[in-house]
Amino acid sequence: MTPFIAPEQLMREGGHSSLLRLGANESAFGPSPKAVEAMARELPRISWYGDPESYDVRSALAVRHDCAVENLCVGSGIDDLMGLAVRAFMGAGAVALTTRGTYPTFAYHVTGFGGRLETVQYRADGMVDVDALVARANELRPAIVYLANPDNPSGTLLPPAEVVRLFEALPRQTLLFLDEAYVDFIDERSAFPPLLHGRLLRVRTFSKAYGMAGARIGYLISTPRNVVTFQKIRLHYGVNRNAQIGALAALGDVGFHEHVVKQVAQGRDEYYTLAVSLGTSALRSHTNFVCIDFGNAERATTVMNKLLAHGVFVRKPAAPPLDRYVRVSVGTPEERLEFGTRLRAVLAEVDR
Ligand SMILES: *Cc1c(COP(=O)(O)O)cnc(C)c1O
Repeated sequence: MTPFIAPEQLMREGGHSSLLRLGANESAFGPSPKAVEAMARELPRISWYGDPESYDVRSALAVRHDCAVENLCVGSGIDDLMGLAVRAFMGAGAVALTTRGTYPTFAYHVTGFGGRLETVQYRADGMVDVDALVARANELRPAIVYLANPDNPSGTLLPPAEVVRLFEALPRQTLLFLDEAYVDFIDERSAFPPLLHGRLLRVRTFSKAYGMAGARIGYLISTPRNVVTFQKIRLHYGVNRNAQIGALAALGDVGFHEHVVKQVAQGRDEYYTLAVSLGTSALRSHTNFVCIDFGNAERATTVMNKLLAHGVFVRKPAAPPLDRYVRVSVGTPEERLEFGTRLRAVLAEVDR
């Protein structure tokens, strides 16, 4: 099975020459102009390999996270780092545990490396169920528990104390893989405290708030010992040289990051208002996407498919209790207006 059907494939299959691209949580606000400028300037040097140690990026990240360079490993996105974690810490037949319907790539790595994935459900309110994860983890004693916080596809955020509670209640042999792909959209004080621990693998990315998904760059924060393990098995030249240059410049452009975070918050508010104006509601999101409630799974699937037929690329959670939602990424103000218009047209068809 393919983890995701890409918008490019949807365009080929549907005969669309363009799509309103609101399905993959890519940043509508692009990368920092400073990152673009730095990458453009260095493009002729693409004949060189990047620094295999990603030393400059790690040094800048070390300052930012108040840790050592030895606490950081750079990879080609979180998806890459997930695969390394599974390869390093799960033998064949080992068990991993997560929430059913959360971001799926971790599960593909687990299956691909011969492991077994066990799941618990989201709570009815769309929150990750910490009690259920703790209970199941203590039965199964899994090698890894995977948690995305803020979560995708729900957009919900567990308060830091809840993540600490989960971490501390896990069996002694269980690692927590904490996927913080969307953490750059929240106040750092709402994030998990900066704890370095051998059983904690924390990962972040330049794909979302920094608008560099196509560049493929993300990083792990953990203990030097875990970082050494990742460094041993990662692809030596796996990180794109241009991505290293862009990431470094993006980290220096604090003003642009703040601008994006503000724009995204405004976009989320517009989607909440849109949902209410359609007589429904949306999940409170801490990310650059919003889940709109369409009542039941069948209706949500129909809405998604009809949106696609109208040239709007969105996705929806597959598993209950979130399967009655359609997930839409925050677009530019113009894209948001266009989404509202096309959604109204689709609902007029669906409810005819
Ligand atoms: C988008 C996303 C990723 C992928 O991150 P990359 O750094 O682009 O590989 C990982 N986890 C979650 C929860 C995401 O939404």
